[in-house]
Amino acid sequence: MGHQRRERRVRAAGIQYGFQPSGWSVQGIHTLDVGSKRVGIAHLFSVGLLLHGGRSGCVPSGRVPFGYPWLMPMDPIQLTRQLVDIDSTTYHEAGVGEFLSSYLARQGYAVERQDVPQPDPAMNPQAGSGPRFNVYASPPGVTPDLVFSSHMDTVPPFLGPCREDAERLYGRGACDAKGIIAAQIAAAERLIAVGKRIALLYVVGEERDSAGALVANQTPKGSRFLINGEPTENRLAVASKGCLRVELQAHGKMAHSAYPELGDSAIDKLLAVLHDIKSLHLPVVEGIGDCTLNIGVLRGGVAPNVIPDSAEAQILIRLVGPPEEIEQAVLRAAAGRCQVRFTLKLPYLQMRAIPGFETMVAKFTTDIPSLTAWGEPFLLGPGSILVAHTPDEYIRKSELLGSVDLYVKLANSLLG
Ligand SMILES: [Zn+2]
Repeated sequence: MGHQRRERRVRAAGIQYGFQPSGWSVQGIHTLDVGSKRVGIAHLFSVGLLLHGGRSGCVPSGRVPFGYPWLMPMDPIQLTRQLVDIDSTTYHEAGVGEFLSSYLARQGYAVERQDVPQPDPAMNPQAGSGPRFNVYASPPGVTPDLVFSSHMDTVPPFLGPCREDAERLYGRGACDAKGIIAAQIAAAERLIAVGKRIALLYVVGEERDSAGALVANQTPKGSRFLINGEPTENRLAVASKGCLRVELQAHGKMAHSAYPELGDSAIDKLLAVLHDIKSLHLPVVEGIGDCTLNIGVLRGGVAPNVIPDSAEAQILIRLVGPPEEIEQAVLRAAAGRCQVRFTLKLPYLQMRAIPGFETMVAKFTTDIPSLTAWGEPFLLGPGSILVAHTPDEYIRKSELLGSVDLYVKLANSLLG
């Protein structure tokens, strides 16, 4: 009994040390709310203390050696909570970038920041004024064979601190893509511990224009494979739809609505063009799906009794195939009636299936087309895109933990 009591005291001391700000091991212990794992990790921690000799139980910040079996696993659920707590709406990503840089440095990674400029506020009123940067992390001096990547930014609005129940974590970014980041870091830790050369890349701006990925693509690190994380319900994507964003602008002449012959309605012109665009026959690819079209923004006019002199629409087309044919059809539909700008164009992608993985087609776009210099791409992640961008965004804890195993399995399949 006496021995057992002593052992319990050691564990309690370990937990106290674990909460020191400099201790990377904190995350492991604090969150073990699943009965059997609590015991397992606490045990691991005391093994760590033993092997660490008379030292405090905290591994010194920034000097964690890789590949040692006593390294304490980080807890992806706790890291997800911490990431979700931080508002990182696109253009306002500095806080999450700072947190992740410090976290990964404490884990022993060499961390590099890649500055990403804010857009011109005259062109984009949502632009922020603070810094924003990508975070690249690798074991010191290592050229990676494989890089895990995802994005740190989220869509608005921020939903406040992370909430949870027994099964799920709730909050903006829970599944898109902060839980994914945490799962990838946990997987990387396991892979690095057995000698795999793995690095991590977390970018800004994915939810708007892939600005962070485009910057990262200027300085690739020599990886052969890129495993990008987006919510695919833990299935490997064999294709992802492309995307074409179209802005239409119609101009006319203002007049009193009682005398329409004196004016020229911009709204009438725009509606006619939109009708023709909606009537287009868009391509379908067997086994993959169809192109889809959404008129997401429509603005124009000043009052019901005024002939409107301007009107605009913004359309997003999800592509299965190259965009050129659709671009030409849109230009023909608008000819002489509206100005057309194609403001974003991301290609349709097909990716390799790997035996042993369930597959899916991602109907959404990702940063992959902007990360062409980072190796052969794969797309895999926990969580459902159907709850991403909603007020009830969540991720299942079991799915998050399952994805760590899947990331490890996929990396091992690719690296042999
Ligand atoms: Zn996403």
